[in-house]
Amino acid sequence: MIHRYHHNLSYLQFPHLSEYAEIRHGIFTRQGGFSKGCYQGLNVGMGSGDDIDHVLRNRAAISGCMEHSELVFADQTHGTTIINLSECGPSGSRLSGDALITDTPGKSLVIQTADCQAVLIYDPVRKAAANIHSGWRGSIQNIIGLTVQAMIKEFNCDPKNLLTGIGPSLGPCCAEFIHYRSEIPKAFWAYKNHMDCFDFWTLSKDQLAEAGIPENHIVSSNLCTRCRTDLFFSYRKEKTTGRFAAVIGIT
Ligand SMILES: [Zn+2]
Repeated sequence: MIHRYHHNLSYLQFPHLSEYAEIRHGIFTRQGGFSKGCYQGLNVGMGSGDDIDHVLRNRAAISGCMEHSELVFADQTHGTTIINLSECGPSGSRLSGDALITDTPGKSLVIQTADCQAVLIYDPVRKAAANIHSGWRGSIQNIIGLTVQAMIKEFNCDPKNLLTGIGPSLGPCCAEFIHYRSEIPKAFWAYKNHMDCFDFWTLSKDQLAEAGIPENHIVSSNLCTRCRTDLFFSYRKEKTTGRFAAVIGIT
């Protein structure tokens, strides 16, 4: 990952995505920002319990870093609803879903997480982008595969052209599921180690590959949020905490 700085903010970029000048993207660390206490830093989560004014100022700072583009958030529900922003109504309307897709320049798609994965996708041929929220519920419902299908249907994308990045999230070191027998279908138990920890990074890579994306187009940050609370918010580690932002948009 490439570490970049903008005023007192810091964000990470995927090297293969950073080669395209027509997109802006970044995984914003919690460093900088206005939030205090449990939410220390750049918290973008409205529903996290943090001071709303601080969250709004944090979001504005990110917008400033992303060429003052409009940030588009959705109420994330751990479901499989995919929102095509190219078909959405007026700016500012409330959206609910776990993946955002667009081929329209100008807007920045934001996924907010604290252990779940944000998966960024860009198609440099069709000039279309996606940002996916994939927690363990999203993983077992394969929201990644469903989003690739939506990009094929809506934007005529060829999966062979898609470039993807898996953001910082709960790693195989920390994704312990002591109730996995009741929570996670047996088909996914192959991703579990002897400590009852699941490797959702590899699962996501497999889902992207199954969707037709070449393996050399799939990059995982391999950063565990629970291990790196200096950089990220982690619900598992901190319980009361903020959400960090993963952003991608077409300029
Ligand atoms: Zn870890």
